[in-house]
Amino acid sequence: ASGYTLLRDPHHNKGLAFSDKERDAHYLTGLLPPVVSTQALQEKRLMHNLRQFKVPLQRYMAMMDLQERNERLFYKLLIDNVEELLPVVYTPTVGEACQKYGSIFRRPQGLYISLKEKGRILEVLKNWPEKTIQVIVVTDGERILGLGDLGCQGMGIPVGKLSLYTALGGVRPSVCLPITIDVGTNNKKLLEDEYYIGLRQNRATGEEYAELLEEFMSAVKQNYGEKILVQFEDFANHNAFELLSKYRTTHLVFNDDIQGTASVVLAGLVSALKLVGGTLADHTFLFLGAGEAGTGIAELIALEISKKTNAPVEETRKKVWLVDSKGLVVSSRKESLQHFKKPWAHEHEPIKELLDSVQAIKPTVLIGTSGVGRAFTKEVIEAMSSFNEKPIILALSNPTSQSECTAEEAYTWSEGRAIFCSGSPFDPFEYDGKVLVPGQANNAYIFPGFGLGLIMSGTIRVHDDLLLAASEALAAQVTEENYAKGLIYPPFSNIRKISANIAANVAAKSYELGLASRLPRPKDLVKCAQSCMYTPIYRSYR
Ligand code: NAP
Ligand code: MN
Repeated sequence: ASGYTLLRDPHHNKGLAFSDKERDAHYLTGLLPPVVSTQALQEKRLMHNLRQFKVPLQRYMAMMDLQERNERLFYKLLIDNVEELLPVVYTPTVGEACQKYGSIFRRPQGLYISLKEKGRILEVLKNWPEKTIQVIVVTDGERILGLGDLGCQGMGIPVGKLSLYTALGGVRPSVCLPITIDVGTNNKKLLEDEYYIGLRQNRATGEEYAELLEEFMSAVKQNYGEKILVQFEDFANHNAFELLSKYRTTHLVFNDDIQGTASVVLAGLVSALKLVGGTLADHTFLFLGAGEAGTGIAELIALEISKKTNAPVEETRKKVWLVDSKGLVVSSRKESLQHFKKPWAHEHEPIKELLDSVQAIKPTVLIGTSGVGRAFTKEVIEAMSSFNEKPIILALSNPTSQSECTAEEAYTWSEGRAIFCSGSPFDPFEYDGKVLVPGQANNAYIFPGFGLGLIMSGTIRVHDDLLLAASEALAAQVTEENYAKGLIYPPFSNIRKISANIAANVAAKSYELGLASRLPRPKDLVKCAQSCMYTPIYRSYR
C-alpha cells in the first residue's frame, strides 16, 4: 500500500508521530512535515484545540473527525480524559448530535439496515469491512435518550456506545459494529426535514416490523456465530421488552436501557445504604416512570432482596411502587396495563398525582425514570425530606433537560440532606458551606465491563444473575474516601480498573452457572480481563 493510503487509514494512521524510519519504509517521506511528534504531544495539542470550542456539538464533531482520522489517538484522548470527554461523545451531547445528524452527517460510521434491505440483510452485513465481530449495538431510533423518535438519526447512539465499549471496557474497536435499523419514523419534523437521512415514511409495526427483526437476528447469528453479543439500545418500550423476551433464549442479547440501567442503579442503591444504613429490604421504593428503565430497575431490586432474604420475588416486589403517566400503578388497573407493569400493580386506591403518591406510600427512595424534566417539584422533595432523615433521590432521565430535578434543587429543597444522583452529569453544589457531589448513575459504568466479561468467557446467554454480579462488582469499587464525600459511585477516572473487575465478576458467575464456553476457566479472572483489554498506544511499523 502507498504511504498516502496509510495516512488515510484511520486504523493505522499516526499522523506526525510516524518516525523517520517508518516514513522511509512506508513511502511517507515528503507527505508529512519534517517534525516527528509524540503521541503525548498530539494528545496535548488536540485537547487544547477541543477546549477552544465553546459549543458542545462542535466538540462532538471534532471528536468524530478524529475517530475517522486516527483511531488510536481518538481512544487515547477518550481514555485519558474520560470525565471531560464522556459528556461529549455520549450523553448529553450525543442527543443533540442525533437531533442534527442529518445536517452534520459526513461519513457513515456504522451499518444502516432499512426496510429496503428486507430479504438481503445477510448480504448487507457482508458489506461491512470487518469480518470478525464480537459486539453489535443496534437501535431502531424510536426512543433516543429521553428525546423520542429520531428515526435513522439515532445512529449516533450505537456509534457512541461502542466507542465506550472500547475506551472504557477495552473491547477492540475492530470487533464492534454499530447498526441502525430503519423502519421509518413517526417524527413529523424529521419527515419534513429536507436533510433527513432515513426512510421518509411512518414506522412499520406489527408483523412487518417483527419479520425484519427476525431476519436481522438470524442473519447476525449466521454471519458472526453463536457468541455474537447484540445490545439493544433505545428501542421504544413495547418493542424492547418483546425483543428481549423473544431472543434471550436463542441469542446472546442484552438491553442496556432495561438491564444495564438496572445493574448500575442497583449498585448505587447498595452503596447508598452505607450512607443511610439498613439493608435493601428495609427500604420502600417509588418510581416516576414505569417503562424500560423503571421496571428494569424495579425487577433487579426485587430479585436482589429476594436473594438476600430468601423471600419469593412475588413478595419482595411489594416493596416497590411505580407511577406512570396515568398515576400510581395499582391492581384495579390490571386489565388495561401493559404486561411489564402487571407485576407492580399492588393493592391500593388509585392516585393520580406524584405528590399524593409520595405522601401515601412514604418511600425512602424516589427514582425518576419518566423522561419528564422537573417532575420532582419542591413539594415532592420536601415531602420526601419530611419523613426521611436522608432521602435517596435519583433523577435519572436524560439528557440534562429531562432530569426530574437538578442537583441544586434536590440539595436545596432537602436542606442538604438528600443523597442525590442523576443520569446526566451535574456539577458539585455548595450547601451551607458543605460541598455536595452528586453521583451519576451512568450506564457506562456497567455495560463495557459487562460486555467484556461475556466476551472473555465466551458466554452464550445473559442471565439475571450476571447483572447482579456486575452490580456487586461496581458497588465494591466505591471506597471509604468516596463515601466520605457522599459519593455512591466511584470516580470515572478509574473506569478501566472498574470495568476489569466487573468483567471478572461477571465471567466468574458465568462459569459458575455453566454459561461460559471458553475453557479452561482462567485462574485469575481480573488479570485475564486486564490482559485482553485494548490499549491505544501506537504500534511501531517496522
Ligand atoms: P420508557 O420506556 O418510554 O418509559 C417512560 C415511562 O415514563 C413510562 O412508564 C411513561 O408512562 C412514564 N411517563 C411519561 N410521562 C410521564 C408523566 N408525565 N408522569 C408520569 N410518568 C410519565 O422510557 P425509559 O427507557 O424507561 O427511559 C426513561 C428515561 O430514563 C429517559 O429519559 C432515559 O434517558 C432515562 N434513562 C436513564 C438511565 C440512566 O440514568 N442510567 C438509563 C436508562 C434510561 P406510560 O407508561 O403511562 O406511558
Ligand atoms: Mn439507552
